[in-house]
Order: sequence, then structure tokens, then C-alpha cells
Amino acid sequence: MAMFPLGGEDPRVILERLAEFSRGEPEPSGGRMFAHSYETGDAVLRRLLREAYELYMDKTMLNFVMYPSILRLEREVVRAVASLMDGGEEVTGNFTYGGTESIMLAVKASREAFRASGKTGVPEVILPYTAHPAFLKAAVYLGLKPVFAPVDLETGKVDVDAVNEKVGGNTALIVGSAPNYPYGSVDDIRGLSDIALDSKVLLHVDACIGGFILPFLRDLGERVPDFTFKLEGVTSISVDLHKYGYALKGASVVLFRSRDLRKHNIFVGTRWPGYPLVNTAILSTRSAGTLAASWAAINYLGYKGYLKMAGKVLNAKRKLVAGLENLGLKIVGKPESSIVAFTGENVNVTLLSIDMARRGWRLQVQPGSLYLNFPPTLHMTISPIHESSMDAFLKDLEETLREHKPPAVEEALKHVVSIVEREGYGKALEALGIRGDSIISGESMLLINELIRLMPPDIVEEALAEAVNILI
Ligand SMILES: *Cc1c(COP(=O)(O)O)cnc(C)c1O
Repeated sequence: MAMFPLGGEDPRVILERLAEFSRGEPEPSGGRMFAHSYETGDAVLRRLLREAYELYMDKTMLNFVMYPSILRLEREVVRAVASLMDGGEEVTGNFTYGGTESIMLAVKASREAFRASGKTGVPEVILPYTAHPAFLKAAVYLGLKPVFAPVDLETGKVDVDAVNEKVGGNTALIVGSAPNYPYGSVDDIRGLSDIALDSKVLLHVDACIGGFILPFLRDLGERVPDFTFKLEGVTSISVDLHKYGYALKGASVVLFRSRDLRKHNIFVGTRWPGYPLVNTAILSTRSAGTLAASWAAINYLGYKGYLKMAGKVLNAKRKLVAGLENLGLKIVGKPESSIVAFTGENVNVTLLSIDMARRGWRLQVQPGSLYLNFPPTLHMTISPIHESSMDAFLKDLEETLREHKPPAVEEALKHVVSIVEREGYGKALEALGIRGDSIISGESMLLINELIRLMPPDIVEEALAEAVNILI
């Protein structure tokens, strides 16, 4: 029991300690983060989310008989998102705790539909290389075979002809993204929809990040390709509320074209002496707080609020794109949404991100892959709050680039690889500064990202699993 606290500590002290632990970490609401943060800058919304969460935080979504209002909130949130995705009466779905859970359910429905149609082979899911790894995870968990489809790096979109060639008797599901996370490009969902209809397979549109921003960008006059249920072949869509829905983390919706398809995800277990277990999602007991906060966000912002926020995102993005081009940086893919990825000649993206972090800006490194032919890029997800911070960001970027000198990492890399060969991953991770009790430094990240870029993906995946296995 050496690590188990005795208890009875003063609540104030406990809170002070928590604040102390996180001191110096980036503040998601601060307007200086460009990944995993979706910030409106609206203090009224922030308070509303907290209070809505608090009202429902100790009620469980497991028991919607005891708490009928939970069912009502879920129904209203699902209907609102379905209508945003141009779904008619027949479109339905469920609230989940995140994009990964929504995607897992869509993949599971496709597997059950495949089996229900009498097919007995190993079901396949066709994935653009830009699809979120949650699909690969779902395929691995659920026993589907992933079939990867190439992506055009100029447009950032999946090669539709290649997808067509990969469709066969065992195809259960085709995946398209609106937009994809790495480049912010929207796949040709119309093209994929035609293929899905012709070959009678299901098509999932991953609008996890785009669902709450693309429709509004389109209404502001941006050219956004069709991606919703308006396209006949689209059979399911995932939309995260904890991204551009501006709700709290732990909130997403998965939609299905019909109840017949959704039914594959309802799990009922009554062969035990306990309560009848009835689930529409993967998780069972979970706080209804994030559902209530999602409902609150949708009702507070509404169409007008989301449109206004999209306008801020658009202004920030226009400034950013112009600024990056001015600095001679290259935008990768077609940034049709609220994500911009860039690279540059003689730019080491990890070092640039470290130097920008010193100035308080957080950009996300996408290390790229020599094997898969993806360039290293920096990813920026734009939030409404960036409208007011973009000028300052570009000024700091310009200054940082002026002093930028890509480091020579070859010798250090050779050293790490030789340790792997002689003494295995454990020692190599130590050499990279990864130990159970340590914080991973920027200098280690320079090497780690370079290894991710240079090594074959299966080795990278094994090495990163080894690394995380010793962290906790
Ligand atoms: C965020 C995201 C996901 C996964 O969602 P989580 O909420 O992190 O589980 C899937 N697809 C896309 C395009 C995303 O942006």
C-alpha cells in the first residue's frame, strides 16, 4: 500500500497540488494551441458548459429509465446533428464518448451487415491512407481486414479510381473523410458514393472534425464538396461534438441512414441475475454530463452562433494561408476546411515546433514517412479564438524561421539504431530519454520523429508500443 494515499487531505491543498502539477502546460483556452483545442473565446459558453455538466455529472447514461431526461437529451442532440448532415426522418444514431467510439460502432455495423447478407469471408474495410487511425484500430479490434488506398498529395484526397479497383466480394465498408485530419482536405465523397451504390457496399463519412464546421463554411460562401446524407451512397457519418461543436471532451454522435443499420449496435445482455443491460454504444456507465453540455452548446450557439464562429475561423485561416505563402512555406493538400498543414525547404518541423513552443505556440508535428511517401509537416487546427491571435503568431513564426537551422541528427540516429540492434528497444528508449519517471524532452522528440519518418511503419508501431508500455 506504499503508493496508496492515507486520505483526509484538505480539499484546498488537493486542488493546489493539481494546479501545481499542470503549471507550465499549454492552456487550451489561451488561443495559442493549434491541435486538440477548439476554443471560441466565449466566456458565457464556457460557464454554461461547466454548469450543464455539473447538473448531470453524477447521472449515468446507463440508466435512461431512471433518468428519462437523458433519453430526451440524446434524442434532441442526435436529431440536431442528423439535420446538420441533411438526414431525413429515417436517419438515426447515438451519442458516444468520442470519434473513436463513433467510428468503432460504424465499423461494427458494417461487419454485422456483411454477415447478415450471408457472406462468410473476412470482411474488408477500404481506408484512404489519410483516414484516422481509429479505423485501423476498429478493424484490428473487430477482425476486419484493412485495405489501404493511395492519396494524391497535391489535393490531399483519396484516389477514387484506386478505391474502385480495391472493391471486391469481401468489401464491407468504404471510408472517406470530410475532411481528413492530416491535411484538412475533403475526399471526393460523391465519387465514393457512386462506387458504394454500384457495388452495394456501405460508405462511412468521417466528419468527426468537419461535421460542425464544413456546413457553416459552405453557408459563408466557401466551396465545400458534398459529403452528407444528401449523397445516396452515404450510409453512416461520425460527427464529434467535442471538436467544432465546442462542447466538452467526451462527446460525439454516430449517425446511420436507417434503423436497420443502427440496430447492429444495440447490445442486450440479460443472461445474468443482475439488471437487464441495454447499450447503444460501447461504453455503459458514463456521466451524462458531456451529453448535457453538448445539448447546452447546440442550444446556446445555434445556427447563428456556429455560423459566426465559422466566420472567425475563416478569417484566421485566410490570414494564415497568406502568411505561410509569404514566408515561402508550402501548404500540403487542399485546405478546404479549418486545418492547414505546411512544410518548407530546409525546415526541420520538430525543431520549428520546439522553437515556437518556447514562444508559447503549440503546433503539431506530423513526422511523415519515407516508406509511405508522406512529407514531414506541421499541422494547425484553427479555432475561432485564433482570429485575434493570428497576426502575432505569424510575426513569431517569421522571426523563428529567420534563426532556423535544421540540426544534423544522422550521427545520433545511427547511435540509437545501433543500440536497438545490440541491446534491444529498452536500452534504445533509455538513450532517447524515455524512462518510467521522465518527461520526454524536445531534444528526444527530434530523434523520435526522425525515426518515425525513416523506419517502416510496422517497426515504428512496435517501438512506440514498447515506449508507452514503460511510461505508466
Ligand atoms: C478527432 C478525429 C477522430 C477521432 O476522434 P477522437 O474523438 O479523438 O476519438 C477521427 N477522425 C477525425 C477526422 C478526427 O479529426
